[in-house]
Amino acid sequence: MMIDTRETQHGKSRPDAANLGFGQFMTDHMFLMDYEGDQGWRRPRIVPYGDLRLDPAAMVLHYNQEIFEGLKAYALPEDRVSLFRPQKNIARMNSSARRMVMPEIPEQDFLQAMQELILLDRDWIPKAPGTSLYVRPAMIATEAALGVRPAQTYLFFIILSPVGAYYPQGFNPTRIFVSDTYVRAVQGGPGEAKTSGNYGPTLYVSKEAAARGYAQVLWLDGKEHRYVEEVGTSNIFFYLNEELVTPPLGGTILPGITRDSVLHLARDWGLRVTERPISIDEVIQGCQDGALQEAFASGTAAVISPVGTIGYKGLDYTVNTGQTGELSKKLYDEIIGIQYGQRPDPFGWRYLLD
Ligand SMILES: *Cc1c(COP(=O)(O)O)cnc(C)c1O
Repeated sequence: MMIDTRETQHGKSRPDAANLGFGQFMTDHMFLMDYEGDQGWRRPRIVPYGDLRLDPAAMVLHYNQEIFEGLKAYALPEDRVSLFRPQKNIARMNSSARRMVMPEIPEQDFLQAMQELILLDRDWIPKAPGTSLYVRPAMIATEAALGVRPAQTYLFFIILSPVGAYYPQGFNPTRIFVSDTYVRAVQGGPGEAKTSGNYGPTLYVSKEAAARGYAQVLWLDGKEHRYVEEVGTSNIFFYLNEELVTPPLGGTILPGITRDSVLHLARDWGLRVTERPISIDEVIQGCQDGALQEAFASGTAAVISPVGTIGYKGLDYTVNTGQTGELSKKLYDEIIGIQYGQRPDPFGWRYLLD
């Protein structure tokens, strides 16, 4: 693929490296590519970062045909740049595309687009420990037409955002709120796709949780409100009686790449690892009798996020006396070490861009 590149004449000033936060700043350029009916993908290009033009009837604005991904580029020693298992993100984006009746993107083109864009804006990659360049690929239906059907035209774009360290002062176990009323996904729905329609409806519940002093929502299954599914936009793990348990993927849970990496490492270390349904009753019971040694969320943004408190039906339950567990810390250190090129990479997870 030949990417037409038009560089900006007016580079932005760099944000304060100490206050990057998450997703607040965008780099100088973005990648765009159009899809037009039977002609397929056309006009791959890198242009100065800026507004998109959309017809108000663009179908994404009405029927939510949108999918996205999230991964990070890391500054490695010796000025190298790498991604973490990007082929997995591409496969997941294409699986989201199939669910939303959108066109797939060839892996090689997708990788090339990320590579050329990231290398062009490489001096935006922050270097302080724990910082990275967040990569957000997305696709939207652009055809201007009212009527519920798959669009004929799409825009694929990639934007980049330098992000700060998630744990500048070390781990801080979070308080999570179990919603026994609202659900994120149901069997047969699009829960396993990274499509924007899965996220807007969760804001109402996060707001309620935040008002009660919780950082995240723990989602239960849509049918019985009994089995644990995910926490916020992360997957969830419980270390219970020396067994690492996570709910099985089954259509309602987002297949996290961090989740997959945790499972891989834990199995490689010889831990007992099980993907099985786990009820909220078993979790609460484990908090009470001490069987629950650790609980943590996994996702690209925070990697591993220990859970300290679980609020359920008006009561707070403490996990592992509210401290960060050893396994959580060990998994975090290992994954971060691989991502930043500070540890060996036995599974070939690093993808060097230069
Ligand atoms: C993106 C996401 C995850 C985590 O996936 P990673 O690939 O590990 O970042 C988990 N749950 C939901 C709902 C998500 O959107």
